[in-house]
Amino acid sequence: MPLETVKLTASFKLDGLISESLFSTYREVLGRLLDYAWAKGITSFNRLKAEKYHELRAEYPRLPSHYIYTACQMACSIYRSFRKLRRKGKAKAEKPTFKKQVIMLDDHLLSLDLEGWEASIATGEGRITLKLLHGTYHEKFKGMKVGQAWLVKTCGGFYLKVVFSKTVEVLGSNGVAVGVDINENNVAFGSMERVRNIKTGERVVRTAYFLKRRKLQSKPRLNENPLLAKYSGRERRRVEDIYHKVANQIVTAAKEAKASVIVLEKLKNIREKKKRIKAMNGRLNRWSFRRLQNIIEYKARLSGLMVFYLNAKDTSSLCPTCGEKLSPNGYRRMRCLRCGMEEDRDIIAVKNLLQRYQTNVGASTVHPESPPMTGGGKA
Ligand SMILES: [Zn+2]
Repeated sequence: MPLETVKLTASFKLDGLISESLFSTYREVLGRLLDYAWAKGITSFNRLKAEKYHELRAEYPRLPSHYIYTACQMACSIYRSFRKLRRKGKAKAEKPTFKKQVIMLDDHLLSLDLEGWEASIATGEGRITLKLLHGTYHEKFKGMKVGQAWLVKTCGGFYLKVVFSKTVEVLGSNGVAVGVDINENNVAFGSMERVRNIKTGERVVRTAYFLKRRKLQSKPRLNENPLLAKYSGRERRRVEDIYHKVANQIVTAAKEAKASVIVLEKLKNIREKKKRIKAMNGRLNRWSFRRLQNIIEYKARLSGLMVFYLNAKDTSSLCPTCGEKLSPNGYRRMRCLRCGMEEDRDIIAVKNLLQRYQTNVGASTVHPESPPMTGGGKA
């Protein structure tokens, strides 16, 4: 079976402080490298390192040497993207600058212990160990390979971003697909033979928190109430939890159906969808929809399944059997006046999505040599 590397970025909040001097020293070093790369037109990490490392090492003797390496890497990539923008005429500045509070780490500067949820980071004052604040969502990174990492300072604290990777066996396309139709309070998914329509309960959670928020906001003085932030955090976690459970069910269904592909709706046509999703509090939006798709996508890819996004225009209004325009026939049900087919509209949407996949992509992906679809899964 062909192998594919799935990459996922994890974000951990760090419980503790990192000295301001590490950030300011790093910014200084990076600025120097960036100026030099720009002046000499250097985009190669090896060349930049060869020409500047010893000088900077002598000037910053307390800074662990690998910070100079990673600053060289960052300087090269910042300069490369600056040059690209410049060529397109999109960069206004004469030379590239970097003002963010970001430090790139490598495996000498960072070691992670996901069993004890700790990160050990090399600093000018020796190694420091910080607790990683984590949730159930971080569990899946255990046993995965640690790649590049960044320390980020925000007004809310210090974060560690880590790219994890895992090699998975790609099942290889067999033309069997499972389609997914996402709605405000239910998700329909399955194959042509069997489509399940499950209630997610998302609306109940959203409504409850919407009402709580409105109650707080109606008292003008309490507008800045910390309860508001607490509620939205809780709401997000509860909705995330729902999404993870739904995504697991979808991946399990795909495995049961021996499918090699999961077909999702392409988001560009969200307007179509928006008519169906009544955004009752303005929070069930593109973000939620896309978030659920993201979770489905990375879980699918970790299981060796491919993911396809297809235009879902009219998928719930045309007959999957004969293509005729459907008429509403009671609550969420549709009926075809030409062939008599009658079905739940969400199930129809899944079937149409699958048919569209078969017509547009399915036939051409049965060849075993066709490459698996790739794309950065962000967790
Ligand atoms: Zn029909």
